[in-house]
Amino acid sequence: MNLVSCVRQQAVEQPDKIAYHFMGKDTTYGEFEHSVGRFAKGLQQLGVEKGDHVAFLLGNTPHYLIALYATMRIGATAIPINPIYTPDEISYILHNGDVKAVIALDALLPLVEMGVQAFPQVKTFVVCETTADVAEKVATLSEEAQAKTHLFSQVIASASGTCQPIDVADDDNAIILYTSGTTGTPKGAMLTHENVYSNARDVAHYLGYRANDRIIATLPVFHVFALTVVMNAPLLSGATVLLVPRFSPAEVFNLTKEQKATVFAGVPTMYNFLYQLPEGNPEDFSTIRLAISGGASLPVALLHNFEKKFNVRVSEGYGLSEASPVTCFNPLDRDRKAGSIGTNISNVENKVVDANGQEVPVGEVGELIVRGPNVMKGYYKLPEETAMAIRDGWLYTGDLAKVDEEGYFYIVDRKKDMIIVGGFNVYPREVEEVLFAHNNIVEAAVVGFPDPNLGEAVHAYVVLKDADATSTDDLFAYCAKHMVKYKVPKVIEIMDELPKNTTGKILRRSLKDNKVGART
Ligand code: AMP
Repeated sequence: MNLVSCVRQQAVEQPDKIAYHFMGKDTTYGEFEHSVGRFAKGLQQLGVEKGDHVAFLLGNTPHYLIALYATMRIGATAIPINPIYTPDEISYILHNGDVKAVIALDALLPLVEMGVQAFPQVKTFVVCETTADVAEKVATLSEEAQAKTHLFSQVIASASGTCQPIDVADDDNAIILYTSGTTGTPKGAMLTHENVYSNARDVAHYLGYRANDRIIATLPVFHVFALTVVMNAPLLSGATVLLVPRFSPAEVFNLTKEQKATVFAGVPTMYNFLYQLPEGNPEDFSTIRLAISGGASLPVALLHNFEKKFNVRVSEGYGLSEASPVTCFNPLDRDRKAGSIGTNISNVENKVVDANGQEVPVGEVGELIVRGPNVMKGYYKLPEETAMAIRDGWLYTGDLAKVDEEGYFYIVDRKKDMIIVGGFNVYPREVEEVLFAHNNIVEAAVVGFPDPNLGEAVHAYVVLKDADATSTDDLFAYCAKHMVKYKVPKVIEIMDELPKNTTGKILRRSLKDNKVGART
């Protein structure tokens, strides 16, 4: 079994069931399968072969789903890239990832022109039509660029039939994911057909996805959280994906009501925006049976506030690109524990170890390591980095965690984000949790800076709900009341907003790099 065969099976068993809904239009599993088969054939006619690398620079539109399943169907490897990356960032991945074909948003036509010189190894560009005048715009490209450029709809229309799935081995690469910019130079995590299939299957099983689920897909599709939790797992369960072009709290509420959505998945900043929307009320989420949070730690105060306001259970999980991504989730049939990422999902083991790789006792902090069919084959063309990341079959996550006596894991922080103040360990997350519990703070991030006396010092950045209601002195007093002295930030800066990547994760590194105007 793999993702392609599972979704084909859905098309045979329930051809008229809605696979996805996008901007008012429903597409059935039968129609989806037909488009995938034809687009796959069209790609083959353009010379894309088994083993080739195909990059996607796409947004949350059906093009992504069709392109992904068509690429896997011909045994090629998909490389999803954030379409708003700079040309330099995109160029790095296209070169490093040995990309032969690119499927891109029409807004990226200038990149196609540039690509003729800058990445000559890319032989084919397929451009999506999300605006009316794409064909005219293509006609303005240089002759060389035009010769390489094809419209998405024409690739489907000119296909001479549908393509039968090409045989692939379980350990052939299905997807190479360049890990997010928060973690240094991007490295391509090679996810095999078994990796992506097993994680989608195990997530679907653990979260009880059913054919009558209607799952909101507002997470950016190029991110691994979206890939498994709101696309692959729903599709192999025969459920309906409700594609949202761009996250907006009002749009999420409207779609939930209109489409009777049953599952919502988001990163903590999305929960914060939904919670803060003044018009939001419990009826907005009344059809949601499960709200999922992942990608970053969900502040406990926000979890409680959200659950209370919307009368819904929020289940936090954890994952990383290298594990396709999910390793833990709060179980549905037992307690969900606030602040915990939950327990092992089916078939995946998590363990907390010390610097020698030995398991630490319950309650002690160590590095979280993971083993299972979801763990990547390695980093593309980086055998040394792979050997450091995967040791004795276990993936070292770089996250510090602890586990309780019932097997619930808690992320303490990323190993490299820990701040050492005069010899004491301070985890940014614990300071952020306290800040988040302040009733006038809507966002908070904590980083460490070098300090001449203490080695490192804690700096906090906060966004206030009402900027006039709280001063930095009030905040210092509040921190001093709730934290031991060495954890109290030395600097607290009030910001209009915090820097985030497109997935919504707060970029602590960028706060460190742009230390300006700090007030003490
Ligand atoms: P990425 O590969 O971009 O998905 O990033 C993975 C990283 O996100 C992990 O290594 C964690 O540091 C972080 N992460 C994901 N889920 C959580 C969570 N529930 N709590 C805390 N950190 C998380």
